[in-house]
Amino acid sequence: MTTTLTDTKSGKMLIDWLRDAHAMEKQAEQMLSNTARRIENYPELKARLERHLDQTRRQADLVRGCIERLGGDTSMIKDMTGQVAGLGQALSGLFVGDEVVKGSMASYVFEQMEIASYRTLMAAAEHCGDLETKRVCETILREEEEMADWLENQLPDITIRFLSLAERGGTAKH
Ligand code: MG
Ligand code: FE
Repeated sequence: MTTTLTDTKSGKMLIDWLRDAHAMEKQAEQMLSNTARRIENYPELKARLERHLDQTRRQADLVRGCIERLGGDTSMIKDMTGQVAGLGQALSGLFVGDEVVKGSMASYVFEQMEIASYRTLMAAAEHCGDLETKRVCETILREEEEMADWLENQLPDITIRFLSLAERGGTAKH
């Protein structure tokens, strides 16, 4: 990859957005592991969250690799962005009441944000002529789309299971 990319405005922007994406993945990692750990009565959801947690860890490494390859300073990598902080709180809060339903909704919204981020990154990378970053982002995008599709399909089942358990047990166990 060209070493002059960091000197252009677009190149700097691309690296900035990659840093944001890295922060987003670190946030996702925390949310997924917190949520998966708490879930008991939804084995499929738990397993899918754990699988996506593995994918998310690899995604963070891949994004970091793009930043490093472009000569970006990885010590500047932020741990969190304000953009995702609110969603993070929604997912890492105590599991009370209907939190498994709200957590699933928040996970779905988070995946949509990731999809938007990687679509943006793909366009920026192409504009900068960084086809390797574009390829990496496309690979990650597919995983986010798969996760979003899965959650979208499962939301009704999760909701119905939650309501059934609540009716049966009186208490809403997760
Ligand atoms: Mg991700
Ligand atoms: Fe994701």
